[in-house]
Amino acid sequence: MVRLLLRFSEKVVGQPITAEIILEQGVPVNILGAQINQLGGEILAEIPSAHLDKIVKAFRERGVTVTVRKLIEVNSDKCFDCGSCFSLCPVNAITLEEDFSVVFDEGKCIGSTCGLCADACPAKAIKLTR
Ligand code: SF4
Ligand code: SF4
Repeated sequence: MVRLLLRFSEKVVGQPITAEIILEQGVPVNILGAQINQLGGEILAEIPSAHLDKIVKAFRERGVTVTVRKLIEVNSDKCFDCGSCFSLCPVNAITLEEDFSVVFDEGKCIGSTCGLCADACPAKAIKLTR
């Protein structure tokens, strides 16, 4: 799966673009979070990786700005494996290894829609990029 950040301007926000693309492409677009009103806004969506190119193209053709990027950056030099972040993650993007080190799956993270781990980290090792 791939996460996309979709930015809708005031000009296009009133159009049923996401529904149209789901019907047209026959691909599930899973909405993970949204901050949007009649003036525009952003939707964080998840789609199957195999359909990335055609879905991005379909949104861009309709005037939506699409960003495919990491939503979180973890500074492994600062992290001291305290484990404070591990149990907080609502999407199981953080795992605890047998040696008690923590590993982030940046592909699962929902970014600033959540941010719980970044708030909890005593070393400020986690940066939310979106
Ligand atoms: S920001 Fe939230 S979803 Fe992302 S890794 Fe941290 S706790 Fe998990
Ligand atoms: S809370 Fe910060 S220092 Fe502790 S394990 Fe998580 S990333 Fe590392």
